[in-house]
Amino acid sequence: MKKIKKDKLEYYIFENISVRHCFSTRLGGVSEGVHASLNLGFREDKRENVLKNYDIICSAIGVEKENTFWTKQVHEDNIVVAHKDDRGKGLLRERTVPEGYDAIITNEKDIVLTGFSADCVLVFMHDPVQNAVAICHSGWRSTVKQIVPKVLNKMKKEFGCESRNIHCAISPAIGKECFQVGEEVSDEFIKVMPFALEYIVPDAENGEKRYIDLHGVIERQLRENGVTSIDNSRLCTMCHPEEFFSHRIMGNERGSMAGLISL
Ligand SMILES: [Zn+2]
Repeated sequence: MKKIKKDKLEYYIFENISVRHCFSTRLGGVSEGVHASLNLGFREDKRENVLKNYDIICSAIGVEKENTFWTKQVHEDNIVVAHKDDRGKGLLRERTVPEGYDAIITNEKDIVLTGFSADCVLVFMHDPVQNAVAICHSGWRSTVKQIVPKVLNKMKKEFGCESRNIHCAISPAIGKECFQVGEEVSDEFIKVMPFALEYIVPDAENGEKRYIDLHGVIERQLRENGVTSIDNSRLCTMCHPEEFFSHRIMGNERGSMAGLISL
């Protein structure tokens, strides 16, 4: 992962992904207060500021905000295949799908797949052989529901992709020293992924709490499904509140980062 700085704007790119993409930070936008400054979700922010923020980030990476496609993220494992006529949904017009989709895939050009995060992991995928991309929102619930392996399977089924050709990147998200959960959460991980035991440590100060390495679990899901090209950021959003919106720190009074990717 590499940080790009253009004046006040700062965002990250992944060097194993060769199409237009970024993971934003909160730096370089025009929003104010709890949304300062590069808020890319509407939330309670002024619409004109969010649109301006999209102009800033989209022009930096060479895409059009009119081509973005958002879905409602609901911490499930639903995957939608995006088409050209989905462009603009979310930012400029209604999201027509009533269901939530935490992952979007496409093999069509100039659709900017958009995912949101403020502690959750976003996984970026690009297959340069079959020309396909994906963005996948994998918070803990979707991780337990195996959304990442399901996206790989969907890319195989829809576009003929093969895991060994798919380049993946794991965004900044809440890190293993900060992602404290109750035992009922860590038990869900172990129940569906016995290997998760290797990524869970007890809280030394509170016997009922555990820490989960979400970056590690998701990388393992990718590797177990045949992916070898993985850029795992391992950067913690909660440890860097000056750079990232963190749900754990700010609650609902916050903006959102976004991951964008487009063929
Ligand atoms: Zn941290």
